[in-house]
Amino acid sequence: MAALRVLVGVKRVIDYAVRVRVAADGGSVQTQGVKHSLNPFCEIALEEAVRLRERGAAAEVIAVSVGTKASQETLRTALAVGADRAVLAETPEGSVLGPREVALALAGLVRRLEPQLVLLGKQAIDDDCNQTGQLLAAILDWPQGTFASRVEAAGDALTVEREVDGGLERLRLRAPAVLTADLRLNEPRYATLPNIMKAKKKPLEVIPAADLGVPAGPPRLRILRLEEPPARTAGEKVEDAATLVQRLRDCGRI
Ligand code: AMP
Repeated sequence: MAALRVLVGVKRVIDYAVRVRVAADGGSVQTQGVKHSLNPFCEIALEEAVRLRERGAAAEVIAVSVGTKASQETLRTALAVGADRAVLAETPEGSVLGPREVALALAGLVRRLEPQLVLLGKQAIDDDCNQTGQLLAAILDWPQGTFASRVEAAGDALTVEREVDGGLERLRLRAPAVLTADLRLNEPRYATLPNIMKAKKKPLEVIPAADLGVPAGPPRLRILRLEEPPARTAGEKVEDAATLVQRLRDCGRI
């Protein structure tokens, strides 16, 4: 089999350094005027895809995102890091997608773009759905290698190493397949200024998500309510270990 066409799912999320606040509706978080960036686990998935291409195992890297127009910026970042082209499955402003709808949109993109490998992050740090890769593999009926900490590709033969309780598991998969990237897979590169400039000229196609088989209407999974964690109370310093033990006993911790 010739070198693989790799599709990488990249998601625009609230930047990891931002303190997330619950919005006035109580069922979402404030996004207006908040810094967004490329989800860190997607950066790792993208880096792996670019490395596969650099090693000759991948022929083409396509970054895809499901989201509103604002996700174009995320895709430009992916292009600057090394994706060859990008496709946005665009959703209308203000629409909410659940994990199933995102996976269906990605499956629609897979049918159109015909990759042999899909690389996703193991999780998005905003909604922590942590199941997009698994859902996508199920919809496509493709094998999956989740939480990969090492990936090797020789033609359509894939070897994936993943951390499991008490050790490492090694899987052999045959492409087409879906892999999700764990933190230890690699250390993503930064986009250089010349590459950011070059990325402006790379192709970025926009397809309405509705054309990809994403059902209209509200998602099946609905968030009913979000709450901020209770404010932490101030700590207390104690004189010695005996007082500490007594205090812990008093508050029923030991
Ligand atoms: P999640 O299952 O939402 O925690 O996300 C896991 C991975 O699925 C992310 O790291 C992305 O690679 C992919 N993914 C999730 N949502 C999207 C999206 N809206 N657009 C593109 N990729 C996504």
